[in-house]
Amino acid sequence: MSEILRVENLKKSYDGFVAVNGVSFGVAKGELKALIGPNGAGKSTCFNMLTGQHRPTEGEVFLDGENITGRKTRDVWRKGVGRTFQITGTYQSMTVIENVQMALMSHHRKLFSMMPRAWKLYRDEAFEFLDTVAMADQADRPCSVLAYGDLKRLELAIALTHRPRLLLMDEPTAGMAPSARIELMQLVADIVKDQGVSVLFTEHDMDVVFAHAHHIMVLNRGELIADGSVTEVRNNPQVQEVYLGG
Ligand code: ADP
Ligand code: MG
Repeated sequence: MSEILRVENLKKSYDGFVAVNGVSFGVAKGELKALIGPNGAGKSTCFNMLTGQHRPTEGEVFLDGENITGRKTRDVWRKGVGRTFQITGTYQSMTVIENVQMALMSHHRKLFSMMPRAWKLYRDEAFEFLDTVAMADQADRPCSVLAYGDLKRLELAIALTHRPRLLLMDEPTAGMAPSARIELMQLVADIVKDQGVSVLFTEHDMDVVFAHAHHIMVLNRGELIADGSVTEVRNNPQVQEVYLGG
């Protein structure tokens, strides 16, 4: 299977403190891969270097073979690297489908001055994305009344409007009940399978990781100590020692 993402010797230091130390890995096309590790291991720092938020101190990032190291966030986004994000206060006053329509306008690079026409233009398309995350029945509800898990699914729909080739999800299930976590990641797994998009996610809940990830990487103090199948990682003595607590 060919790779959508390749990372070579990625390093990030902050005033001498090394947060990520020479990390190399790949993400295959159509893969759902987990990046796990204790708090402070460097997971978010890695993500920030992949999406252009932070410039790596050293190392290189390739997207489908193209070197995108140090590119700006917007550039990386346009090249097809998506990231789930929290919905802001502004969007709370809008309905579910309006949020998706706004995202579609941005994707199609339409100006907000076109809004009245665009609303009509993108409503059908927006419904398709809501269907994908099983939220079509909530299209006209204001976001302010949504349950937390539904907001998370809406975030996912919004991220998908940009047709990412690679979607990065940093702790997508944080703050959710265990059963809701499994459900959300089941939905992500279905999208990976149906649409061929690749997903790299971080997650603290091992049940979620073991249930859904195709491959798992383990980061500890800025270093990658394992990268393999669920079985390989579970049985890795170093992982058991530093991460799973023996
Ligand atoms: P994780 O997401 O795995 O919990 P982070 O990537 O957030 O870990 O952080 C890794 C380490 O880098 C932590 O020790 C954190 O304090 C440090 N760090 C992260 N961002 C900065 C920053 N902007 N300046 C200084 N240190 C940082
Ligand atoms: Mg983090």
